[in-house]
Amino acid sequence: MSDQYDDQMVIPGLGDSLGVDLRESSRSPSEDGVYFSAPSVDLDQYDRVVLCMSGGKDSIASLAHLLDEGVDHGSVELWHHDVDGREGSTLMDWPFMADYNRKLADAFDLPLYFSWLEGGFEGEMLKENSYGRPHKIETPEGLVTLDRDTRRAKPGTRLKFPQVSASLQTRWCSSALKIDVGRRALNNQSRFDGKRVLFVTGERREESTNRAKYNQLEPHACDRRSGRKARHVDAWRPVLHWSEEQVWDALKRHGVLPPVPYRLGWGRSSCMKCIFNDPTIWATLREHFPGSLDDIAAYEDRFGTTIHRSRIPIKDVSRQAEPLSIQDTEVLDQALRTEYTLPVRSEPDEWFMPTGAFSRSGCGPS
Ligand code: SF4
Repeated sequence: MSDQYDDQMVIPGLGDSLGVDLRESSRSPSEDGVYFSAPSVDLDQYDRVVLCMSGGKDSIASLAHLLDEGVDHGSVELWHHDVDGREGSTLMDWPFMADYNRKLADAFDLPLYFSWLEGGFEGEMLKENSYGRPHKIETPEGLVTLDRDTRRAKPGTRLKFPQVSASLQTRWCSSALKIDVGRRALNNQSRFDGKRVLFVTGERREESTNRAKYNQLEPHACDRRSGRKARHVDAWRPVLHWSEEQVWDALKRHGVLPPVPYRLGWGRSSCMKCIFNDPTIWATLREHFPGSLDDIAAYEDRFGTTIHRSRIPIKDVSRQAEPLSIQDTEVLDQALRTEYTLPVRSEPDEWFMPTGAFSRSGCGPS
């Protein structure tokens, strides 16, 4: 996924335990291989192109840009991190998101590998004086389980929601559920050793002041080009300089219909119950997805802390705004189901701009 909040801060201790700097864009443009602006790269120099596909518009636009740049189709693979894991939790994410990504990959005839933290968001949140759970990584050879190194890690307790906060310790979800998972997937597959890998993500400078400072091309945190494994990994953000207009235009040119959240009126595609949701989105969930706030409210009672940074219980937050008006019953029905059955692509003349385009609904502070 690639939304505007998923990369800004990470838990310092997590980086320490991996021996890497987990900030997404931390190098100076004066360093070798670091470019503040790199709208095009020589794609032929890479053996593998790994595209982090959230199922949102910016990662789809990144795929469109790769195709427009003539990438070798056989070198591309999509990775999707399941926020809720695969152990039964449905706390945070859209029910259809995993299957949408499957159908999207099929539509472009590309391999898709899922990866997740066992237990997902809910399992991590319920950690109580225990070690982090293993990571699950799909690979061409099958599913791999990566246990934690309990000699280096310490037991920890969360028992609260990640919070919209400047504190690196409290906003833990994107690092624990996505960034860390992706990096372990890179570090633990020997097929990348001795290879040149391009790791592609869909951030855009327009999204936040923090992203405005990102480098467009730089050695990835998992780069070991000078090490024993000789693994060369570059991080590239192909749509970093794009406007939202350019993103929608890319989807239209490639005939990718707007994903469900934008058709419902959301301005971005993230977890359904993202901690950054604004009162309008919480009101919309209460109105159109009855019962969807119950689990969150129950955890608020149990933890004695709210999911919303205002410290107002989520059901009260949801009464602070009018819900979005959703007229499209077909897409509303899809939003509730795990199997994705709507078309993924269309002919360009059947393409339409979704109601959520250019809206700030669902966005937090940038
Ligand atoms: S809750 Fe929001 S910030 Fe956290 S992982 Fe989900 S989309 Fe990202």
